[in-house]
Amino acid sequence: MMQLPAPTAISVPVQGIRPRQIGDTFGAPRGRDRTHHGVDIFAKRGTPVRAATQGVVVAVRDKGLGGKQVWVMGPAGQRHYYAHLDDWAPGLAMGSLLQPGDLLGTVGDTGNAKGTPPHLHYGIYGRDGPFDPLPLMHAASPGKR
Ligand SMILES: [Zn+2]
Repeated sequence: MMQLPAPTAISVPVQGIRPRQIGDTFGAPRGRDRTHHGVDIFAKRGTPVRAATQGVVVAVRDKGLGGKQVWVMGPAGQRHYYAHLDDWAPGLAMGSLLQPGDLLGTVGDTGNAKGTPPHLHYGIYGRDGPFDPLPLMHAASPGKR
């Protein structure tokens, strides 16, 4: 996975959502001392969350701000973070190999999203830290903005 080049386009990880439906909130202030290290993809609770890239699952856990979350090591060693899940896909575990579109879980409001409209928090962390995933989604669907 480390040897593959970083993707220049990725699919939206929430089923049925187009890039233009996603607010560009990367870097927006969150509280006093944080900024938003990803985008929030709103959808009905229970909507399938699918892998944006190929990769290997490196963590499946319920912890902290992200609540029920999945971490995936993708091409070029980039880490993909899927958070606030309502539940995980059956059988998903550390070491699971993923292709784009594979089921990770469902949209929810766990962690610090509790009580807010259900959404997936999705972030990508590269060698230099987090970066905005939204342009990569737009790149994957020309003409569908
Ligand atoms: Zn978020």
